[in-house]
Amino acid sequence: MGAATAFGAAFATAFAAGAFFAGARFAPDADALVAGTFFDGAFFVAGSAAFFAGAAFAGAAFAGAAFAGAFFVAGFAAVFVEGADFARGVFRSAITIACLCVPRNLWHARAHPANGAQHRTPGARRKPRTPQNDASPMFLPTPRPLPLEGASLTVLGVESSCDETAASVVCVDAAGAWVRSDVVATQVAEHAPYGGVVPEIAARAHLRAVGPVIERAVRDGGGWGAIDAVAATAGPGLIGALLVGLQAAKAVAWARGLPFVGVNHLAGHLLAPFTRVEGEAFTAPAFPFVGLLASGGHTAIYRCDDASTMRELGATRDDAAGEAFDKVAKMLGLGYPGGPVVDRLAARGDADAVTFPQALRGRSVEFSFSGLKTAVATHLGKHGPPATEQALCDLCAGVQRAIVETLVRKLLLAARLEGVPRVVLGGGVAANRGLRAHAAAECARAGVTLVVPPLRACTDNAAMIAYAGAVALRAGRLDGLDLDARASWPVG
Ligand code: ADP
Ligand code: MG
Repeated sequence: MGAATAFGAAFATAFAAGAFFAGARFAPDADALVAGTFFDGAFFVAGSAAFFAGAAFAGAAFAGAAFAGAFFVAGFAAVFVEGADFARGVFRSAITIACLCVPRNLWHARAHPANGAQHRTPGARRKPRTPQNDASPMFLPTPRPLPLEGASLTVLGVESSCDETAASVVCVDAAGAWVRSDVVATQVAEHAPYGGVVPEIAARAHLRAVGPVIERAVRDGGGWGAIDAVAATAGPGLIGALLVGLQAAKAVAWARGLPFVGVNHLAGHLLAPFTRVEGEAFTAPAFPFVGLLASGGHTAIYRCDDASTMRELGATRDDAAGEAFDKVAKMLGLGYPGGPVVDRLAARGDADAVTFPQALRGRSVEFSFSGLKTAVATHLGKHGPPATEQALCDLCAGVQRAIVETLVRKLLLAARLEGVPRVVLGGGVAANRGLRAHAAAECARAGVTLVVPPLRACTDNAAMIAYAGAVALRAGRLDGLDLDARASWPVG
């Protein structure tokens, strides 16, 4: 294990521990935890030293054990020095650190069959776990049972996979998935100077935001008494960002004795059209449908047969559609995020003035957007930067057309191949007016029903995570406090 891995593990561990305390402060007896946190600070340093020593001499597994061990020693010391309440806080930390998935996460992420480490097959499914079939201490204290089938189920959802820290309370009853609160703290301003999302900045910003965001969502959503369970995005996404929301949510569930479940972010996006706000126009798609998810991090097409049966039909081989918008905007000096700016300028441009190639035009439902970036760079190299405002608008219109036509063509191709005459748009790129207009026109021509959810449901949000969590819990899934965050996690 190299220094970089040790540093990465320590960094992630520190963030995960911080996120845990952010969540644990929602315990009804938070005072003892806060007192314990004081001790944790001091012993965190000792723990880190043990971690580095362990990492240097014996590898990641030992380092994780040494780290947890340091907290246990601290807990015993606290019994004698400060009494049981302090000790309880420290012991709680020890248990948490012990079940922190961080060293395992990094171990898995960096494991390579060549060095003899265990390697988990990507997409390998974890066995469904319940408190009944799993005696793991990670389930202590035993979570409160779910409301009976048929009764309403209210779930607190937490999302932190990329650059939005979000929390939401959703109440699922026979009439639908009602959004009681929907809080989103975006980090766009923090990443703007870099022209894209910087993972370390994202993790730090999540850590600052996660406590207040959860607090507001719970307050606006009817208070702690209303909440039956907790769900959080467990992947895919930026590992440091995911860890913060996931750890905080696990800590909330643990501190409040609530059932917990980890949710796939992409499945959440596909279920987003089913979340509804009182008074808002609402059209839910009927199953089965074909969904296009196009954001800054993902671009893929899925078939959804019901709320828990989804299959990927095709995805991008390189850049995501939102990433293509952002990279082109960066080349043109239009700032970040580029999608909305290109959208605005394209509305005043002539898409026929400059045409860009559209990759993989055949009968494939896969995408490739990296060539577009190169084509724009070549165009700029040959013609120089647009000399007039109109030339800039024309260029944006050309780029937008290449992206939008590709997305819609492949979505309709997938619908035809699947024999499903219903399509749904999702992800941040679904905000694009050109995409909405072109999709509406092409779907009308092909006799396909199009559902475009409201913008709040298209971009990253936690209401979709809460609802996906409710679906998973109703299907009998339950996760422990040792649930890993997963940078990559295919749907289905
Ligand atoms: P993620 O956080 O995974 O990137 P989001 O759902 O937050 O996904 O979407 C952000 C992406 O959506 C960015 O790449 C942004 O450029 C793009 N986007 C937002 N609005 C528009 C728009 N009007 N036109 C095109 N792209 C857009
Ligand atoms: Mg985002």
